[in-house]
Amino acid sequence: MQKYTALTLAILGASGLTACSTTPATSVAEPVSKAQQLAQKYIIVDTHIDVPYRLHKDWEDVSVATKRGEFDYPRAIQGGLNAPFMSIYIPASYERNGGGYQLANQLIDNMEALVGRSPGKFAMAHDSKDVLAQFGSGKVSLALGMENGTPIEGKLENLQHFYQRGIRYITLAHSESNHIADSSYDIRRKWRGLSPFGKELVTAMNNIGMMIDISHVSDEAFYQTVALSKAPVIASHSSLRSYTPGFERNMDDDMIKALAKNGGVVQINFGSSFVTAMANQYGALRKAAAKQAGVADDDAFELAFRKKHPYPFATLDTVLDHIDHVVKLVGIDYVGIGSDYDGVGDSLPVGLKDVSTYPNLIDGLLKRGYSETDIEKILSGNLLRVWRAVEQYALAQSL
Ligand SMILES: [Zn+2]
Repeated sequence: MQKYTALTLAILGASGLTACSTTPATSVAEPVSKAQQLAQKYIIVDTHIDVPYRLHKDWEDVSVATKRGEFDYPRAIQGGLNAPFMSIYIPASYERNGGGYQLANQLIDNMEALVGRSPGKFAMAHDSKDVLAQFGSGKVSLALGMENGTPIEGKLENLQHFYQRGIRYITLAHSESNHIADSSYDIRRKWRGLSPFGKELVTAMNNIGMMIDISHVSDEAFYQTVALSKAPVIASHSSLRSYTPGFERNMDDDMIKALAKNGGVVQINFGSSFVTAMANQYGALRKAAAKQAGVADDDAFELAFRKKHPYPFATLDTVLDHIDHVVKLVGIDYVGIGSDYDGVGDSLPVGLKDVSTYPNLIDGLLKRGYSETDIEKILSGNLLRVWRAVEQYALAQSL
């Protein structure tokens, strides 16, 4: 039996000959694609990953490979993910029942513990320079975003507190209107946009150097925020309403134009229900079916319903359509990625199932003719530009 070296096999492969079938496949290094190379060459920032709440509910050690979830260290490294914004997610019920400040601090503690236990694999990123400095170190930089402003509890000193703890964006509201802003999901529009405190908070966030996240808020709250904010804002995990008509949680074309004028960035959410109308309506169909059957719309019902009516998963191409749409509408400088991994259940598109799959997205962008410069902007350049602008605005106020 002739022995082949990996190099010989690579040459044989390149010349169109097939390798001897008796050679163990493990001796052949997988060819690295252009997309995989770019995933390692450029910084990838994903502005919305729900690891903190996932671990809070169902703890696993994400410094090693995990069976559940969509994020762990080995898969992040494989996918080229450098800086996920870990979502310090506070459910809307905490606005009514209290405890948001407590939960936010605990979730931040848990991220610090992750770094503390695995300092060779993770590091906190408190400013945009940390992301650059830690790039290439083999460490995944953990940045923090707070999803739902409930823990601010109407006190600007709490903004200061959470800034000091490392929070670098706040999603003003989540699924219900809160003391800061109205929510797109909530039919009650108590404030017709931002509350008086919400307006104060926007200015205070500008002054301290905290990014303002307009994902989840009502259209009125969005327009009032971009009118008021002196620095660019972000949509940390939103997709486009033109593909999901009537879904206020996504952004329409006029909003994208207003966001671009503000210098901000929309970070596309990968969840199927955010990217296709069919997946978007699936939840409502299931709820209606449960109601008709007179049973609770719980996990067991969802499982049975899915067996009968397979979930219409979106594809990588539909996510690329959203990126294309923003680029055609306002140019390459205003779009990025906010996957919502670990936050949208089993609804991720085919080809984008977890943090190891960013190279698939890059491959799709290459096939659609995007240049490396454009791809770098989508992967992190646009978001880092906004983050720096927010930092610089705050610095200028303190001088
Ligand atoms: Zn969300």
